[in-house]
Amino acid sequence: MRKIEELQFHNTYAGLPEDFHSRLAPTPFSQPPYLVSFNAAAAALIDLDPNEAARPEFVDYFSGRRLLPGSDPVAMLYSGHQFGHYVPRLGDGRAILLGEVRNRQGEKWDLHLKGAGQTPYSRDGDGRAVLRSTIREYLCGEAMHGLGIPTTRGLCIVGSDEEVLREEGVETGAMLVRLASTHVRFGSFEVFYYRRQYEHLARLADYVMAEHFPHLTGAGDRYARFLTEVVVRTAHLMAKWQAVGFAHGVMNTDNMSILGATMDYGPFGFLDDYNPGFICNHSDHGGRYAFHRQPDIGHWNLHALAQALLPLMTEEQAKEALAAYEPALVAHYTDLMRQKLGLEEWRPEDGDLLTGLLEMMQADHADYTRTFRSLGGVQSDPSSASEPLRDLFLNRTACDAWAVRYRERLRSEGGRDAEREQRMARVNPKYVLRNYLVQVAIAQATEKRDFTEINRLLELLRDPFAERPDMEKYAALPPDWGKRIVVSCSS
Ligand code: AMP
Ligand code: MG
Repeated sequence: MRKIEELQFHNTYAGLPEDFHSRLAPTPFSQPPYLVSFNAAAAALIDLDPNEAARPEFVDYFSGRRLLPGSDPVAMLYSGHQFGHYVPRLGDGRAILLGEVRNRQGEKWDLHLKGAGQTPYSRDGDGRAVLRSTIREYLCGEAMHGLGIPTTRGLCIVGSDEEVLREEGVETGAMLVRLASTHVRFGSFEVFYYRRQYEHLARLADYVMAEHFPHLTGAGDRYARFLTEVVVRTAHLMAKWQAVGFAHGVMNTDNMSILGATMDYGPFGFLDDYNPGFICNHSDHGGRYAFHRQPDIGHWNLHALAQALLPLMTEEQAKEALAAYEPALVAHYTDLMRQKLGLEEWRPEDGDLLTGLLEMMQADHADYTRTFRSLGGVQSDPSSASEPLRDLFLNRTACDAWAVRYRERLRSEGGRDAEREQRMARVNPKYVLRNYLVQVAIAQATEKRDFTEINRLLELLRDPFAERPDMEKYAALPPDWGKRIVVSCSS
C-alpha cells in the first residue's frame, strides 16, 4: 500500500500533442476543504493506503490545494452530440485529469478531479460541481460496480463551504475524485473528425488501442477491428443497463466511454415500478433518453462514432462493425434475462414467458427489482402457491396464470429449487440505488453535514445481492414522496 506521495504517475494523455488538451492546475475552493467520504475499495485500485485519508494533506491533494507529486494535470478536449445535435467544442469544463496512476498489477487508472474550477472549455459554466450531484455520482459508481456493470469509480468527495449557484438556489460546492480506465469518450474522436484533424484521429485510436486493445496494435485493419470491439462493448453495456433497470438519463456522445463503461452520472434512475417509457431526466422533454430507447440510442451514438472514424476505414468496414451491435446486444440481454428467470438454458418459447411477466409488471406497476428478486422463491411444485410473487400484483388471476407457466418451465429443467434460488439471488439484486435513497443521503449531507448515510449506502451497495436483515428497509418500495423526485441536468 502506498502513501499519496508514492503513487506512480504515468501521464500518457498529457504526453499527447497540445491540441488534445489544455494544461492547467485545479482552482482550489475559496473556503477550507473537508472530507465528505472516502472509498477504500476504490483506493485499493491504485494501491493507496486507506489510512492516508486521515492525513490532513489528503483533502489538500484532492481539492487542488496541493499538486500530487508526479501528476501532470490537463483538461481534456472533446466534442459530442447532445440530444442529437453536434456541439463542436465541449471538453472538461469543470474537471481536470490529474494524471494516470499505474497499480502493481500494471492497470492504469485516470484520476479525475470533478468540480476543479474553470478551464478553457467551461463556456459559461462556473467550473464547479455541487455536493448533491457528486454524492449521486459517487454512490452510483459503487452501486453499478456492485452489480457487475463496468463503470467509473469514486475515490472520495471533498466538500467546502464555497457557495455554488444552481437553478435550485445556492448549494454547497464539492469535488469528486473519479477513477476510470480512461476518460476518452466517443466525443474525443468526433472533435478531430469535424476539425478535419485526421492525423490526430489516428493518433488517438492508436493511443487507446496501445493501452486497452493491445492485441489490435500493428494490424492493418486495426481501426475497423477497434470500432467493432467498441460496438460490442457498448452493446453489452446497454444489455446490462436494460437487464438491471438502469436509465442513464443523458446519453450524449460526450458521455459515452470508448471502453463501454458507464460514465458521467447525472439525472440517472433505477426503475421502481416497471415502466419501459421511464424518463429519469426532467430536462429530457421529448424522452429521447427514455429507458426503453437506450439500446437504440446506443446504436445511434455508435453511428456517430463510426462516422468520425471514417477517415481511418472504408464505409464498408464501418457498416460491418455497426452490424455487430444488435446481435451482441440481443445475445447478452437474452443471457442476462435467462439468468434472472433462473433458467439453465434459453428456449425459443422463453421470450413469451419473459414478455408475459414484463407486461404484467407494467400493467400492475409492479416493482422491477422486487419482482425479479421474488422469483427465486417460487417453488416448481405445481401444488405450491406463488406467494412471493402474488403479493406484488393486484391482478392475482393473471399472476397465478403466469406462475403456472413458470413453474411448468422450471420443472422441465428438473433442477433443484434451493440451488436455483441461490443462483438467482446472485443475479437479481436485493438493493438498487433508488433515487429516494440517494435523496435521504443528500439531505442529511447538505442540511446537517452528516455523511453517515452516504457511507452506509456505499457499504450496502458493495454487495447488493446479499440478504441483510438489518438493512431490510433499504429494499423497500419508495415512499410516495420518493416516487416524485425530479432530477434534472443541473449539477
Ligand atoms: P455534462 O452534462 O455534465 O456531461 O456536461 C456537458 C458539458 O458541460 C461538459 O463539457 C462539461 O464539462 C460542461 N459543464 C457542465 N457543468 C459545468 C460547469 N458548472 N462549469 C463548466 N462546465 C460545465
Ligand atoms: Mg459529461
